[in-house]
Amino acid sequence: MDTPIGVLLIRPLSIYIQQELSKRYTLFKFWQVPPDLRRDFLGKHSDSIKAVVGNGVQGADSELIDALPLLEIVASHSSGLDKIDLEKCRERGIRVTYTPDELTDEVADMAILLTLATLRRICEADRYVRSGEWKYADFRLTTKLSGKSVGIIGLGRIGSAIAKRAEAFGCSINYHSRSQKPNSRYKYYHSVIDLASDSQILIVACALTRETRHIVDCDVIDALGRNGVVINIARGSHIDEAALVSALVEGRLGGAGLDVLENEPEVPDRLLGLDNVVLSPHVGASTVETRKAMADLVVENLEAHFLNKPLLTPVI
Ligand code: NAP
Repeated sequence: MDTPIGVLLIRPLSIYIQQELSKRYTLFKFWQVPPDLRRDFLGKHSDSIKAVVGNGVQGADSELIDALPLLEIVASHSSGLDKIDLEKCRERGIRVTYTPDELTDEVADMAILLTLATLRRICEADRYVRSGEWKYADFRLTTKLSGKSVGIIGLGRIGSAIAKRAEAFGCSINYHSRSQKPNSRYKYYHSVIDLASDSQILIVACALTRETRHIVDCDVIDALGRNGVVINIARGSHIDEAALVSALVEGRLGGAGLDVLENEPEVPDRLLGLDNVVLSPHVGASTVETRKAMADLVVENLEAHFLNKPLLTPVI
């Protein structure tokens, strides 16, 4: 008799995906295994684990891949691929899938939400009302979004969806990508510093790679200036966080809206004390609707693979 197919789910993700995977495969819940017992656990089940399901926070690194000699596919519940050792997967002939498109609208909405929340200081305003301070003085004036110049780093799926939304607010759109988009009406900047100089709001929406780590550094922040705002819905490591925090504390940057952080879930103490910063816990794609669509796509990719059919959203 064939050994049942084992699927290693790295993080809990959702009850729905756990149920769907359990119906079809032997599901191993990696997050439930204490860290010091994980090596033994992988050794014990390596004769059945043929698939790994991770996400944008934890995927399949070289150590995990090496521990699974029968691994055939890594199906990521994410559109970012920075937590998967793609080189190793290529070498070993391991297929990789992801969930682009499904989450584009949600993450673009989040970028606009963080932009508005930061400019209009909505979290601070909420605290102001709840604390009773409203009874004694009017809330401070804030800044409008309409008509601002928005610079987008990475005019991919999410970046383009952000541009579309920002246009509806009457904003002018500038962007930087690896290459200029021939059919785009937005203004292209080869240099991120020049993009920041010409923008009032800088939104990070590119993929995290060796080249884009700290693409927003001290020089870019200074180019954006004391009234500028940085929004990051991509990955924490795109921004030099120490430089960002210093600029915010010293008043060299106007504000920041951050869905992702460099060492999440760790948050620098100095960031927590700042009213011109809006923080969210990497929830850009975390709606019931989108998570279900992402889960379905992960399951469909696994089914296609194990039935020798074409993958729906292959990376490798
Ligand atoms: P995508 O369609 O693949 O777009 C990626 C963009 O990154 C492209 O515009 C690409 O430029 C640009 N890029 C890649 N390397 C670059 C470089 N060296 N310099 C400048 N730009 C570079 O991906 P997507 O679906 O829009 O997703 C973008 C990222 O969002 C993901 O990688 C992920 O990290 C993040 N994300 C976050 C959340 C969240 O919950 N906060 C959810 C989903 C995704 P070209 O167009 O020139 O190739």
